[in-house]
Amino acid sequence: MACPMNQALPNAPSGATDQPAKPPLLAFLEQAHARYRDDFSGAVANYIPELNKADPARFGVAIATIDGHVYEVGDSAYPFTIQSVSKAFVFGLALELLGADHVESFVGVEPSGEAFNSIRLNANNQPFNPMVNAGAIACSGLIYAARRDEAFELIRSILGRCAGRDLDVDESVYQSETATGDRNRAIGWMLRNYGIVKDNVDAVLDVYFRQCAILVSARDLAVMAATLANGGVNPLTGDPVLSPLAVARVLSVMTSSGMYDYAGEWVYRVGMPAKSGVGGGIIAALPSQIGLGTYSPLLDEHGNSARGLRLCEALSAHFDLHVLNRANDVRTCIVADYDVGRLQRRGRQPHEQKLLEEQASTIRIMELTGTLAFSNVDYIARRLLAHDTGLFTVLDLRRVPLITTAAAKMLADLFDSLSSSGTRPVLAGIERDSRHFRQLQAFLTDSGAIRTFSLLDEAIEWAEDQVIFRYGGFSQITDVPLAEQELLKGLAPEDIADLEVLCETRSYHPGERIIACGDEADSVFFLQRGMVSVKLAEGVRLATLVPGTAFGELALIGGPRSADVFADNAVLCRRVPLDTFDDFRMRRPFAAEIIVRNLAQLLAHRLLQANTKIDLLSAN
Ligand code: GLU
Repeated sequence: MACPMNQALPNAPSGATDQPAKPPLLAFLEQAHARYRDDFSGAVANYIPELNKADPARFGVAIATIDGHVYEVGDSAYPFTIQSVSKAFVFGLALELLGADHVESFVGVEPSGEAFNSIRLNANNQPFNPMVNAGAIACSGLIYAARRDEAFELIRSILGRCAGRDLDVDESVYQSETATGDRNRAIGWMLRNYGIVKDNVDAVLDVYFRQCAILVSARDLAVMAATLANGGVNPLTGDPVLSPLAVARVLSVMTSSGMYDYAGEWVYRVGMPAKSGVGGGIIAALPSQIGLGTYSPLLDEHGNSARGLRLCEALSAHFDLHVLNRANDVRTCIVADYDVGRLQRRGRQPHEQKLLEEQASTIRIMELTGTLAFSNVDYIARRLLAHDTGLFTVLDLRRVPLITTAAAKMLADLFDSLSSSGTRPVLAGIERDSRHFRQLQAFLTDSGAIRTFSLLDEAIEWAEDQVIFRYGGFSQITDVPLAEQELLKGLAPEDIADLEVLCETRSYHPGERIIACGDEADSVFFLQRGMVSVKLAEGVRLATLVPGTAFGELALIGGPRSADVFADNAVLCRRVPLDTFDDFRMRRPFAAEIIVRNLAQLLAHRLLQANTKIDLLSAN
């Protein structure tokens, strides 16, 4: 029966609207924006005359995630001058360009407890920190001393790389501040008096005034903050703008001194490293999570954007974002932990298989996932060392996107100590010229002691070969006749003899395709000599088969070929065409039934293997 138009569909929740569903974070930002949009408390900055022209109604917010998504609400694209928010990035640039020791010998890192434009230095006659004007002018001065006339362009380009686009300068704000910036001039000359600005105070101040007049939007600020949250790599462009060490130092001073005289209160209530500017911008960076940018030119009594501050407080409280309130479970980094005994990776000669089962505990495999940080690797190490580590420990890193420096150091130490206790570390899912490997290499005593493989399958196969070799299990593989084929087990000699007559002999060279996925399944192959690999169209290897195994055997139950089969080396097969097998079936129904029963058993075994793998992956 047709559903009448005016009747709600039975499954629609009551109160449903036609609004498309949206991510909760976007919904929150929209609600918060709507809540504070009509709040006109605060005042637009007026000590730089041009800033006083800002429209008090403007309000924009954006959040950039470290996977490179940007949420934007309100006037998020509206341009305004960055002002003091530039100080965080210029400090980062100075650290990068000149080294922390050099910068720290001119500028302190203590909160000042004074106004941002205070003309006072600390007890060492240095600026208190890089977030107040004196410290920021000192940083611009250090960059000027190193780069002279290129200093400003360098600053502009670093800020632009953090934002992911070229940034312009608001000429009229720059002129306006230059015309009225006597207080900053006083600071500049005082810095010169103490040897912090070496020469040409005017040129240094010009760099500083220009950097404050760089035009950004709330969206730009969000991406810039996300670059800090992402260890210095712009999450949208992938550009590594600042090093993680410089970023950690920038975020430290933002935490202690980024929000003028409200810094202590801010870190207590909001708990995110942040910096604000008198242009009305705020950035907040939650490491490894998000970067936030807000714009509203109405400032509170501390000089922080009033609406921006409220929005940040609401966001942090709502989602519990305080940086010191973190939760994590280190154990989730292990997807699977097993030894080779529980899983058959590839076909082996029966005696090799038996040997591997006996020596199962000599190869330990751990499949890892997610970012590996300090506490994850500590957990991995304890879990590994709780049992005998055997001859080989295979760590699969294919699902590991990031290894922190601490984790790389601990992994390197773990590998060194495994090696010296007789366990060979084997890494899978990693290339020797990859970032991950170079990172480990920097801390390894002997990187040659570690084997690496792109695929876990190859790593396990290699380790298995080593174990078989070590225990003398390798034997010359001789031809396996029909009578010894696993699919023909239990057949009477006269059945085999009859089948033998029906078989064609086929040989293949290494790399030759024997079966193509999608082809009609018109024959069954018995592998007599050599090895074959069964592969999916994308090249994923499903199995490697040894003599004595059949392939293409699903032809017995119909349907097209489901995978490719390639010869790994020189291969000799016995091939039974299906139509002749049908004659055999008529002549020898009892033998044919045994074959089908064997087939069912082999398939059941494969299913068991697949289920074992699924269990291994879901048991951790
Ligand atoms: N250009 C401004 C000044 O030095 C920046 C101040 C600020 O945003 O805190 O006065």
